[in-house]
Amino acid sequence: MSDLGIATQLVHAGERRNAPGGVPASTPIYASSSFVYETMEEVDRIVDGEVSDFVYSRYGNPTVAAFEDAMAAIENGKLAVAFGSGMAALHAALLACDLTPGAVVIASKDLYGATFDLLYTIFGSLGVKTVTADFADLEDLREKADELKPRVLICETLSNPLLRLCDIAAVSEIACASGAKLIVDNTFATPFLCRPLDLGADFVVHSATKYLGGHADATGGVIIAREDFERPALLSALTLAGGVLSPWEAHSILRGIKTLGLRMEKQCSNASLLAKYLDLLPHIESVVYPEFFKGAAAETVDSVFHNSLFGAIVTIRLVEDTREAAYRFMNSLKICTRAASVGDIFTGIVHPATATHRELSPAKRRELGITEGLIRISVGIEDIEDIIVDIEQALDAANTSLFVEEVGLPESAAAAVSA
Ligand code: PLP
Repeated sequence: MSDLGIATQLVHAGERRNAPGGVPASTPIYASSSFVYETMEEVDRIVDGEVSDFVYSRYGNPTVAAFEDAMAAIENGKLAVAFGSGMAALHAALLACDLTPGAVVIASKDLYGATFDLLYTIFGSLGVKTVTADFADLEDLREKADELKPRVLICETLSNPLLRLCDIAAVSEIACASGAKLIVDNTFATPFLCRPLDLGADFVVHSATKYLGGHADATGGVIIAREDFERPALLSALTLAGGVLSPWEAHSILRGIKTLGLRMEKQCSNASLLAKYLDLLPHIESVVYPEFFKGAAAETVDSVFHNSLFGAIVTIRLVEDTREAAYRFMNSLKICTRAASVGDIFTGIVHPATATHRELSPAKRRELGITEGLIRISVGIEDIEDIIVDIEQALDAANTSLFVEEVGLPESAAAAVSA
């Protein structure tokens, strides 16, 4: 090096050391956009697929590959492909379903708003038609699928914010009978609660930004496929559209998923306690939580979720079902955050009418049951007593206590509150 000019030394000194003798205990961040080999023949063998290794990070990166391997294993798929966001993953999953002009997609009516926008704007402009359906009404879905011969059915395991569970096994049967692929967005349930590929889905998609990462410090997405023959279509969507995950984010999300089980157990048990407590409060008109479901909806919960857990999201509707009351309540929170996300270690509270479903018309929101006083609580890992106290003081500070006097405190609630 010493006989080289300073500019050359600045560029090359210290770089390209041999790999260490021992295997790193934790996957390192391979912050490298390309990989250097001794000879051109070695590069040829990798590019031709004779040897599996890395050349250029848009085609593959060791840190990202470690995250993909982890996701394929925990979702029980043949392969996983990582993307820079959940939306990039959804886009690629749809691209991989051969959506040519005239093709039909049947989308669950309570999909995440941006997924609808993606279907209507980007795929709509390519001549793909999206039809919505209530995936809980299996007869209607079957009729629509028979008639429209869709290429894709797309739904979420657990819908946002009203927490409807999809009977994935029944829907996958309908998809299969009509020759369609089934894409399931498993972001809200996570593989700890449900593995849609085991129930017949073709693709699982995650916004890894949520529970998988879990710490509000990384944006990412991933698709997991049930069959290996999906690989070329997924890889071409990745490398040609180019929405790759960065190794830095892959490292954070990979670290996040190591504690997913612990976090989900704590977050779900906190959510169950919170839901039961809130159900007693007179400020709240209704509490939506899968543990409370009855009849067919309860049977779906049993068949879709494992580990006897019911998820970590609780949705409430205030007695004073207005935006003003919702904002007064949210502005009075001291510990719970007003974060525009879900699935983090801290409790995050969202006002769906002005956040996740902002783009919809008021009439459409009402039709979906998303009223102005509806609030979604993504429960964190904190001591649940502190969250309960925070939520209760915010309800009081929001002056919903006026309502308490008018409505009157039920005896059971009074006992629970004073206990
Ligand atoms: N899917 C669901 C269910 C979501 O809630 C979100 C985002 O909130 C996405 C996909 C999109 O994920 P990202 O924000 O990582 O692109």
